[in-house]
Amino acid sequence: MLIKYSKEFLVKIMSEKIKIYEGKAKVLYKGKKPNTLIQYFKDDATAFNNKKKGVIPGKGVINNLISELLMSKLTQLNIPNHLIKRVNMREQLIHKLEIIPLEIVVRNVSAGSLVKRLGIEEGKILSRPLVEFYLKNDLLNDPIIAEEHILNFGWASTHELEEMISISLRVNDFLLGYFLSLNLRLIDFKLEFGKFWDIDEPLIMIGDEISPDNCRLWDIRTNEKMDKDRFREDLGGVDKAYKEVAYRLGVLSKKEFNKALKDEI
Ligand code: C5P
Repeated sequence: MLIKYSKEFLVKIMSEKIKIYEGKAKVLYKGKKPNTLIQYFKDDATAFNNKKKGVIPGKGVINNLISELLMSKLTQLNIPNHLIKRVNMREQLIHKLEIIPLEIVVRNVSAGSLVKRLGIEEGKILSRPLVEFYLKNDLLNDPIIAEEHILNFGWASTHELEEMISISLRVNDFLLGYFLSLNLRLIDFKLEFGKFWDIDEPLIMIGDEISPDNCRLWDIRTNEKMDKDRFREDLGGVDKAYKEVAYRLGVLSKKEFNKALKDEI
């Protein structure tokens, strides 16, 4: 028996996106072209390895715009990253990477887990940027690891590790100055990397996002926290702080933001 489908139904299933991964704050869909993905930014927020959960209305829109701006600036500086282009208020077209299972954290000022782990007072300016490595493994709570673990267990090669450290420090130099010009102190941030398989030599690229979800930013005058710590520490005014960062970066006007949220309802 021949089943007849309506044109509307066929258009609907053909345009439906194929989900390949759903994370805590983002969803990845298959892109139209080979080796591309669509990265969708959710409003969901999690902390302490999923123990604390919430929703920050509009966070996805804000992080999409902020990450687009910062990744584009990195591209202008020849720092390889996965962004191809922003598609709409919630989505970006990105290169598909083979993810390296590490998180690279760069710190300029003591805060967060560094303070807890070593009993150092918060807000201490570090004498030089501190680069740390964490293993991406939720079951183990993303443990801190040494370079020797990375090489020993083959999570990255010597060359890949050197490349990730060098890129992270260049990103730090750029972000420090850029945020400072907007009266924001870059306390620390986390990057994730992957391998982009062009021809036969893989290229190390920054993946994920760069936003107040993975950067600590303090107001230069008041030291007020303007990032995800407001959610982690129940400080209130989370969405206000994210919006303020977006306004300072000039990626969003109040009118555009309200329109983006209204259009989704
Ligand atoms: O918690 P911790 O002090 O180690 O975080 C250092 C930096 O890395 C912070 O900017 C934090 O937002 C970011 N981070 C992240 N994702 C994680 C752990 C930390 O974005 N899983």
